[in-house]
Amino acid sequence: MQRDEPDHLIKNPEMKQDFILQTHRLSREFGGFFAVKDVDLRVRRGTIHALIGPNGAGKSTCFNLLTRFLPATSGQILYDGCDITRTSPSALPGMGLGRSFQISSIFPHLTLLENVRVALQRKANTQYRFWQRSRTLRVFDDRAMSLLESVGLADYAKRRAVELSYGRRRALELATTLALDPTMLLLDEPMAGVGHEDIGRLAALIGDIGRARTVLMVEHNLDVVADICNQVTVMRRGEILAEGCYDEVSKNPLVISAYMGEDHE
Ligand code: ADP
Ligand code: MG
Repeated sequence: MQRDEPDHLIKNPEMKQDFILQTHRLSREFGGFFAVKDVDLRVRRGTIHALIGPNGAGKSTCFNLLTRFLPATSGQILYDGCDITRTSPSALPGMGLGRSFQISSIFPHLTLLENVRVALQRKANTQYRFWQRSRTLRVFDDRAMSLLESVGLADYAKRRAVELSYGRRRALELATTLALDPTMLLLDEPMAGVGHEDIGRLAALIGDIGRARTVLMVEHNLDVVADICNQVTVMRRGEILAEGCYDEVSKNPLVISAYMGEDHE
């Protein structure tokens, strides 16, 4: 059976093209308990793909496996045809696989422009040696400004990050992530903690990002998932329960009962 062939995904060039990120029987065990079990995830290039499921389903564990912050107990992760199952997390951005930074990685007392410039410099620093020159700095300012524009924060460029609302900080975080020009973005609950007034704008922003890139996001806010995600994978108890577009999975009786049971588990 093809499913049991560990590296069949690498050997199949067609799948490599269609699916930018794939896992094969990905599992993570904590002291005999499988938080993620035999997950075959496939993220199609150019889509916004949501990973949803009730509390304890294994979404965060799965996210941490994909970003390589947690080692897998078994299974395989392929990104753009490369096996990244044992790749160091710090090597992933250089391969075009970005993740949203934690809020704590934003420098609160720098301005927004400076924050994005630092991210741009960080990327350039790995490629060139001459970025310190003042003329080059101005180039970074222009690029930083256009990134701030793209996340709707141009008017705040000279403000310090600490002055922003939580939702706008998340937009800044996206700008610093986009500074690394990722091909694919992994977002862990981008709407968590974001006020009502900022949700629509942030969702539209992620929708825009998804036009040129691939996005995989763990998300609790199902209205946002319904609005911007083309594909949804529903997890329950460490396994994939259902997959499809939001309309399909939200009508699936297995999914409905998984969510209904959430409070009673
Ligand atoms: P979700 O993000 O979908 O709510 P998690 O991935 O956080 O789910 O957790 C899935 C399951 O794995 C839960 O039952 C949780 O208690 C367990 N789990 C997660 N991390 C650990 C850990 N470090 N040690 C032991 N159990 C864990
Ligand atoms: Mg979680």
